[in-house]
This record gives sequence, structure tokens and C-alpha cells, in this order.
Amino acid sequence: MTERPPGLAPATVVVAAGRPPRAPGAPVNVPIELSSTYAAHPTLGADGVANNLGYGRASNSTWEAFEEAVGALEGGQALCFASGMAAISAALAVLPADGALVAPRTPYNTSGALIGEVEAAGREVRRVDVQDTAAVVAALDGAGAIWLESPTNPLMEVADLPVIIAAARQREVVVVCDNTFATPLLQQPLTLGADIVVHSATKYLSGHSDLLLGVTVTRVGAADGTPDPWYAALLAHRTRHGAIAGPVEVWLALRGIRTLHVRLERAGANAAELARRLGEHPKVTRVRYPGWGAMLAIEVTGGPADAEAVAAACQVWLGATSLGGVESLIERRRRYPGESPLVPDTLLRLSVGIEDVEDLWRDLEQALG
Ligand SMILES: *Cc1c(COP(=O)(O)O)cnc(C)c1O
Repeated sequence: MTERPPGLAPATVVVAAGRPPRAPGAPVNVPIELSSTYAAHPTLGADGVANNLGYGRASNSTWEAFEEAVGALEGGQALCFASGMAAISAALAVLPADGALVAPRTPYNTSGALIGEVEAAGREVRRVDVQDTAAVVAALDGAGAIWLESPTNPLMEVADLPVIIAAARQREVVVVCDNTFATPLLQQPLTLGADIVVHSATKYLSGHSDLLLGVTVTRVGAADGTPDPWYAALLAHRTRHGAIAGPVEVWLALRGIRTLHVRLERAGANAAELARRLGEHPKVTRVRYPGWGAMLAIEVTGGPADAEAVAAACQVWLGATSLGGVESLIERRRRYPGESPLVPDTLLRLSVGIEDVEDLWRDLEQALG
């Protein structure tokens, strides 16, 4: 990859990272490397799996370009996985087996289901309100690891990451943070001391609702080349369990990340304005918006059917799940039987896109009635 001058701003890094070396005639973008195997390398050891060369389940140059870009943004070293859930299950799998797992009481519902599996397998899980910092810190005593997600999906609960991560490190509790909603442009948990960051790159990082992809990010290895132990464990897990991404998807995600900064700037400005106006709307009983980012949730008057009717009446917003794409999406989360009963049944999650804010507002206004 090309070396970048130090100290570049994130808006430059999203554009510059993960480019081929600059040489006369060199392409601007990495190619989509479609190869399952590679000509034998003289330094390849007998253990072709442990070695990072030689076979497409272990590495791929298109992955490496994307990983370079995400790693540069988070301040760490990234590994891409087949989906956000593949990255999350790898992270859960490499955590130390002993000690309780502290977790949000309402994480992203599929993460919650996976944490439930960990509990069923015999590990103590301590579920906390991530907004109650004192309770979270108290739960860390004697714990082995903490799973964080901030803001949480879909309740938009924000954890005090600097305080919680510092308290966890003091107690040698391993910290994992799902940074999907914030993106590395708004929050960098590794720089606060987290051990593993995970993303559903399906969402903001790729940004166009055209692929599924996950990523883990861990600390940069030692100067002598020794990798961070979490990085090594996650790489081994990916290579052995095989939850690898297709090079085409990864290439698209890298193209998507080029506009992350401008997409988030626009979507964030739209979200701030819509949150303000929704807060004054008589049919909206509550707006959940942390004051930054492009995700928000509203609760509306009436019952679940009324909330469904709002989503169904939208003509610009699409009634659909997922988030983080250029297009605005709206969804009543409790339509999923697996969603936590702590999520109000009239809650609509809004993923604010980059469209014209007045068009988005007019559409919501007519849909709210
Ligand atoms: C979507 C999502 C996931 C799961 O990612 P997939 O790419 O769908 O597997 C995990 N965490 C959060 C916060 C999400 O929004």
C-alpha cells in the first residue's frame, strides 16, 4: 500500500488509505483479486493455514486494502469478515473463557441472541443499562470481558466510553465495542483503550446497501512485527472457521468508504434538523437522538399499528430494515419477534440518508398525518 504523510485528517484518510503504491502507470484503485490459491512462496512453512500466504482463505490483496483503510481510521489493524455477525461471533469466540461477560441489556438483537448462546453454554452474563455508568462499572468487578455498543441499536443509548473503558482496563477486563452506529469518524474506541472494535461494514462503512460485510479492528502490533494477540486470535479464527468475505464485496466496500466523510456530514446534518423538527411534532412522543450521527429513533402516538402505518405511508423513506446507506430507511423494530420487549412497540428507527432534508421532512410530515 502507499505510504501516507503522517497527521492527515480523517476526511483525507478515507480517500487516501488502501491505495496501490504510486508508480508510473500504476492504477489508482486496487484490483478485485479473484484467486483461491497463489504460486508457492519460498518462505511458506509446512503449516499453510497458520502462514498468511498462499491460500485465499487466509488472505487476499483486495481485503488488505480495505483493512488498511479501516485500520487507519480506527487507529488499529483491521480484519474483514463475511458479515457483521461473522466478525461479532469471532470476537465473542476469542474472549477469555473465564469470568462473567458484561453486556448491554439491549444490544443489536442478533448480537443479543449470540450473547444468549454464550450464557446458555455456561458463562455468566451481567446485563447492564449502558447509560448507567456506575452500574456498568460495578458490574466489571470479577468480570472477564465487557461487550459494548454505543449508541445501541435501536434505543440509541450512549455509553460513557472513556469512563467505562478506563474502569475495565484497571480491572483487566477485556473490552469489545461495536462501533457500527458511530463509525470511526465520530468515535474511536481503540484510542480510548478498547481491545477489539467490531463493525457491521454492511452499514456506514460501505454505505450503499449493496453488500454484507464485517470487520474487526485491534491494536497495531509491536515494532518488531509481533502482532497484537487479539489480532492473531481473530486472524486464526477467521482462517480456521472460514467466515471470509468475497473480494467483490470488499472492493465495493472500499469504494463506498471513499465517501464516508461526506455521506456522514450530510446525513448527520439531515438527522440533526429532523430530530429538532420531530421533537415539536404532536404525533411524536419521544425522539431518541444523541445529538450526533445519522441514526435516530422516534416513538409515536397510538399503538403498533399506528407506527406501522407511518412507515407504510412514507414515499421517500423506504420501509425496510438495515441502516447506514445513502437512502433513508424507516422501520418499526418490534415487528421482529426477537426484538427486546424493552424496545417500545411504537418505536420507529430512522436511518437518515443524504437526500434533500426538506423532501425527507415533508414525507415524514404527511406520513405522520
Ligand atoms: C447490522 C448490525 C450488526 C450485524 O451486522 P451484519 O452485517 O448484518 O451481520 C451488528 N451490530 C450492529 C450495531 C448492527 O447495526
